[in-house]
Amino acid sequence: MADITYAEAVDALISAAIRPKKAALPNETLCALHAAGAALVTEAMPLAAARRLVDAACPGRWIMFLTGVYDPIALPFGETDGPPGVAILARAVDGLGAKPVVICEEPITRSVELTSIAARLLPVRDPEHARRKAHTVLLEPFPVASLEASQQQARELLARYEPAAIVAIERLGWNVKRRYHYAGGTALPQQAYVECIVEAARAAGIPTLAVGDGGNEIGMGSILERVHEVVPAGRRCQCACNAGTACTVPADTLVVANTSNLGAYGIAACMSLLLDRADLIHDRSMEVRLLDAAAAAKCMDGGFVSPSVDGGEDSSLAVVELLHRVVDFACR
Ligand SMILES: [Zn+2]
Repeated sequence: MADITYAEAVDALISAAIRPKKAALPNETLCALHAAGAALVTEAMPLAAARRLVDAACPGRWIMFLTGVYDPIALPFGETDGPPGVAILARAVDGLGAKPVVICEEPITRSVELTSIAARLLPVRDPEHARRKAHTVLLEPFPVASLEASQQQARELLARYEPAAIVAIERLGWNVKRRYHYAGGTALPQQAYVECIVEAARAAGIPTLAVGDGGNEIGMGSILERVHEVVPAGRRCQCACNAGTACTVPADTLVVANTSNLGAYGIAACMSLLLDRADLIHDRSMEVRLLDAAAAAKCMDGGFVSPSVDGGEDSSLAVVELLHRVVDFACR
């Protein structure tokens, strides 16, 4: 095992309060949400999540990822936060012999495909193909449907794949009235009810992990009261539901970070530390390719198709460079 005291540096890098001034949620909110998440665990959040994922990612077992936000006008192909994080954790679990399967709306699948390619994985649609071929990512579109149909679909997916863990990364999650909102409080249309997968998994004792950065993502239900307190629109949104942006769906293990991509990278870096496998975290050049891939898939950031995340411009390149350096030092 590498020196896991480096996990504190990983957590500090992914949660550093370096959001731009005009971010949807300010740095003070990030700090408060991070502190609330940190209080749930006895070690750095990404290290706690990495332990769960390393335990789950056995050869041949499916790891089920959830990501995506869909708005037919503003985000018709999703946003740049989420798919790159999924691609890097898919790459990490593939490195352990496990099989990544990604659940999202059909319009979001292109971003998962292109970012997977940037992470040197082959996106496929046939489960048997994915089962037989290493270094693949299986795409499993989930329809926007009624609650009952979605619950049925969730049960079928869990029965088909028997996933060893569910990992939600920047997956927009419903509030107490099953409505969806941007972090600032404006409403989104109904999303695919993938929350049903998390609920069914929790009922079945399947480990659930989640990464979020704003309080409106799956997993933030674990710190719901704090989201209500520190996110300006957390308790009260700007739509008729009047129930706030806070997602009520909890996860067994939560990671709060500056962006959800960075949260996912932090988990991959801590997997590297636990296994003394420096290859599980990517480097700056792959991060450039991931962001270009997200933009090529027409993912949006701040209203533009842009190879940047949450308005952070090129800051993720520098963070990834340091994560890679920390892991390199630890694994020598
Ligand atoms: Zn509302």
